[in-house]
Amino acid sequence: MSYDVAVIGAGPGGYVAAVRAAQLGLSVACVEKEERLGGVCLRVGCIPSKALLESSELYYKAGHEFKTHGIAVSPELDLAQMQKRKDGIVDALTKGVAHLFKTNKIEHIAGTAKFVGPGKVEVDGKPLDAKNIVIATGSSPASLPGVDFDGERIVDSTGALSFEDVPGEFIVIGGGAIGLEMGSVWSRLGARVTVLEYMPQIVPGMDAELAKQATRILKKQGLTIETGVRVTGAKVADGKVTVTAQGAKEGDEPRTWTADKVLVSVGRRPNSANLGLDAAGVEVNERGFIKVDEHWRTSAGNVYAIGDVTPGPMLAHKASEEGVAVAEILAGGAGHVNYDVIPAVVYTDPEIASVGKTEDQLKEAGVEYKAGQFPYLPNGRAKALNAKDGFVKILTDAKTDRILGAHLIGTRAGDLVAEIVVAMEFSGSAEDLGRTVHAHPSLPEIVKEAALAAWDRPLHS
Ligand code: FAD
Ligand code: NAD
Repeated sequence: MSYDVAVIGAGPGGYVAAVRAAQLGLSVACVEKEERLGGVCLRVGCIPSKALLESSELYYKAGHEFKTHGIAVSPELDLAQMQKRKDGIVDALTKGVAHLFKTNKIEHIAGTAKFVGPGKVEVDGKPLDAKNIVIATGSSPASLPGVDFDGERIVDSTGALSFEDVPGEFIVIGGGAIGLEMGSVWSRLGARVTVLEYMPQIVPGMDAELAKQATRILKKQGLTIETGVRVTGAKVADGKVTVTAQGAKEGDEPRTWTADKVLVSVGRRPNSANLGLDAAGVEVNERGFIKVDEHWRTSAGNVYAIGDVTPGPMLAHKASEEGVAVAEILAGGAGHVNYDVIPAVVYTDPEIASVGKTEDQLKEAGVEYKAGQFPYLPNGRAKALNAKDGFVKILTDAKTDRILGAHLIGTRAGDLVAEIVVAMEFSGSAEDLGRTVHAHPSLPEIVKEAALAAWDRPLHS
C-alpha cells in the first residue's frame, strides 16, 4: 500500500501530525520503534514528571503546610504507590494515542525506520511506500564528557523518574527545566538536593528576575543551588559518586561534591543519526538538527521534519503545532506556527512561565518598552491558596502598548500565562487585558493588574 504520508516517530510531533493529516482525508502510516506510542513526552517526559511533581507536592504540603490550614497530619511516604500511580497515568495516555490511531484509521507500523535512498524508507528492512515523509524522531538526553551514565548511580531523566528509593544526597547537573523539576520532586520526598549550574543563573534564557525569585524560593524549600559551576567529571566508587567541577571563570579552584545519585540534565540532542539521512539527501546543521525551511521542508523533496529533531525550543507543544501545520500543508492548506508566541513553563512550586521577549532581549534590540508588574501577595485567591510568593510581569511596546512578552512566577503561573498567549496571538495590548473583566477572586486578576500596571496603573497597589 502507498500512503499519502508516512510519519516517523509517534511523539507529540509525529502522532499529532498523523492525526491531523488523517482528519484532513489523507492516508497515513506512523512508524514507532518503542512499544508504546506518545514519544518521550508521554512515556518518559512531560507526563510522568508532572505526575511525580503533583504527588511529591502533596506529600510536602501535607508535612509543611497543612497545619496552617488547621489540618494535623503526619504523612508517610509510599513511593511504590506514587510510582504506580505515575505508571498508570502514562499507561492510560499512551493507550489513548493508540485509540486515536484506530479511530482516525492511521496505520501504526511497529519498528525502526531508516532512509535507504532519496524518498525511500524501510522499516526493519521492509520498504514503506509514501508520497510524503515527515521525520519526527525527537531527541535523547545529552551526555557530558567525563560523566558516564551507568543507569544506577549516574542517570538521565528517565532514570530519575523511576528511583525505587529516595536518594540521601542527590546531585543535579544542570539547572534547566529537567534539573529543577526532578530536583524538586526528590527534595520534597526527602533527598538533600544540590543543583550545579554552569551559567550565572538557573533557567538560563528566562527572565533574570524570574531566575532570582526561583532561586530564592527553591533554596527556602531546602535545595542547594550553585551557579557558575562547570561540571567536568563524575566517578563512582564505594557506592557513591564524586562530582568534579571547575568554576566558570579562569583560575577558579576545582570543587568536588559526593552523592548517592547524580542526574545529568544538561540538555538534549536530536535523534538524527542512524536515520540514513545522507542516503536521503536530508541535511543537518552542525549540531545534528535537521535543517528545515519555513514550511518544515528538508533539503530532500517531499521529506519534512518537525519537533525536537529540528532547531528551536524542545517543547511538546512546539512539536505538536508543527505537526498540525505540516499536515495542513500536505493536505493543500496553509500551515503556520507563530514562533514569537510559544509559552514555556517549568513546573516547580511555584511554577515559572514565560512567553515572548525578555527585558534583556528588548534592551539588546533597542526596543523602547514598558514593564508592568504585580505581586501575588495582595490577591485574595492567592491568600486563600497560601500562595504568597511570585509576580506577573508584562512587557509592552512603549509607543503602541502591544504586549511583547510576559514572565510569571507563582502558583499556577503555567495556567495564567495562557490568557497572555491568546492576547499576544491577537496582537493585543495591555489595555485590552486590563479592561477585560476577570472573575473575582481569581489568580488571573494578577494578570489583569500587571496589564494595568503596564498600561496605566494597577488598582490594588
Ligand atoms: P519525541 O517525543 O522524542 O518522540 C519521537 C519518537 O520517535 C519517539 O517515540 C522515538 O521512539 C521515535 N523514533 C525515533 N527514531 C525512530 C525511528 N528511526 N523509527 C521509528 N521511531 C523512531 N516539554 C513540554 O512542552 N512540557 C513539559 O512539561 C516537558 N517535560 C519534559 C520532561 C522530561 C523529563 C523530558 C525528558 C522532556 C520534557 N519535555 C517537555 C520535552 C518534550 O518531551 C519534547 O519536547 C517532546 O517530546 C518532543 O516531541 P517530538 O515528537 O519531537 O519527539
Ligand atoms: P536545558 O537546556 O533546559 O538545561 C540544561 C542546563 O544545563 C543549562 O542551564 C546549562 O547551562 C546547564 N549545563 C550545561 N553543561 C553544564 C555543565 N557542564 N555543568 C553544569 N551545568 C551545565 O536542558 P534540560 O533541563 O536537560 O531539558 C532538556 C529539554 O527538555 C529542554 O529543551 C527543555 O525545554 C525540555 N523540557 C521542558 C520541560 C518543561 O517545559 N516543563 C521540562 C523538562 C524538559
